[in-house]
Amino acid sequence: MLDLVTGFVLFSAAVATVTVVLLYVWLRNRRHYGSLFWTAAFASIAAGSLLIGARGQIADLLSIHLGNALMLLGFALLLAGIASVNREPLRLVFLLPLGIWLVGMAAPQFAGSVAFRMVLYHEAALVAYALMAWSLWRSRRRSPARLMLFHLSAASTVTSAVIITAVVLWPPEDFLTYGLGPYVLIAGTMALMGTVLVGGRLLNEDADVTLTVLAETDDLTGVLNRRGVARRFAALRNKAGQPLVGALMFDLDHFKRINDAHGHAVGDQALVHFAAVARAHLRDGDIFGRLGGEEFCAILAVSSAGEAVAVAERIQAALKAVPLVTAAGHVGVTVSTGVCVEPAEGATLEALLTAADAAMYRAKSRGRDCIVADVARATHDLCRAAG
Ligand code: GH3
Ligand code: MG
Ligand code: MG
Repeated sequence: MLDLVTGFVLFSAAVATVTVVLLYVWLRNRRHYGSLFWTAAFASIAAGSLLIGARGQIADLLSIHLGNALMLLGFALLLAGIASVNREPLRLVFLLPLGIWLVGMAAPQFAGSVAFRMVLYHEAALVAYALMAWSLWRSRRRSPARLMLFHLSAASTVTSAVIITAVVLWPPEDFLTYGLGPYVLIAGTMALMGTVLVGGRLLNEDADVTLTVLAETDDLTGVLNRRGVARRFAALRNKAGQPLVGALMFDLDHFKRINDAHGHAVGDQALVHFAAVARAHLRDGDIFGRLGGEEFCAILAVSSAGEAVAVAERIQAALKAVPLVTAAGHVGVTVSTGVCVEPAEGATLEALLTAADAAMYRAKSRGRDCIVADVARATHDLCRAAG
């Protein structure tokens, strides 16, 4: 039979190893506060379990009171780490498990009982796992590691309930010689180690997502860049139910004049303004990005050519209706748009953008602030209708 002291010391050593790995992860990317919280969490749990394992060798105040408090402080830090990767605020409720322990142990008539302490600790752990499951459940972010960690914390909540029931039914006389002790330790270890493994994946996944988002986002406007547009194109083309795909190519008119008249910073504001106006008139599944300079594009799955032209018209009208207000006063921004619509099957991004670009140049040559649509190889001049 596993001796409980050895168990706790081994557990502490394992958690300490994870702490070092997490510290290394954090040092590589110091702005990733999730891994910093988890490093602190595992350091706290390693120290706590070492103190519990030293039961009898050191003062009970250190081994029992502080040891378990450090374990539960570790849970608060785990919750903070999850909140951090979910970009959510830290909450006071994360300290609830630690609070349960401290309040329970403040009653000396109960604190002397091993059974009471075990029930108290596992109640606090149950609350911690339930909070973990709850915060993963309500987070709007979804990913395989989050889902796995959710299942694991839900299972650990149940495990804690089973442990509490067992301790109530078969109360221990003494902690170190308690017959169920090793089983409790093994169950607790498995729950915590599972959390470590999946949590590590969550931290990695988060770092990968951050890098991908950065690589596919335009710094100034926050919309997709050319790479981001290309990556989403295949998914959009395969979207079931829509036979056509439309490309809208936008180029702001006389943009150089805006820069020259009001300065580069106002030019930048005009780019941000256009991106916001255009995005407001696109659906969630549409692709919108900045291809460079003052050129933007939108790719839409549509059921008719008219649908794509209507979107271009709405954006053109909204740009006129919503003025750009700057420190230099109101700045008029207009856009020339080329539209191209092709059957979704076999469509390529290059061909669509080239055709939409050619249509956009025709809009420029027809006086700007207008839309030219190249639909099924028949050019529709909408300049007069739209302008
Ligand atoms: P047209 O109506 O024919 O499109 O004329 P235009 O002045 O808009 O086009 P042109 O291509 O001659 O000039 C585009 C200008 O956009 C030139 C460049 O300095 C400016 N530009 C490119 N990127 C940025 C940017 O990020 N910020 C600002 N403020 N200006 C930019
Ligand atoms: Mg241009
Ligand atoms: Mg331009």
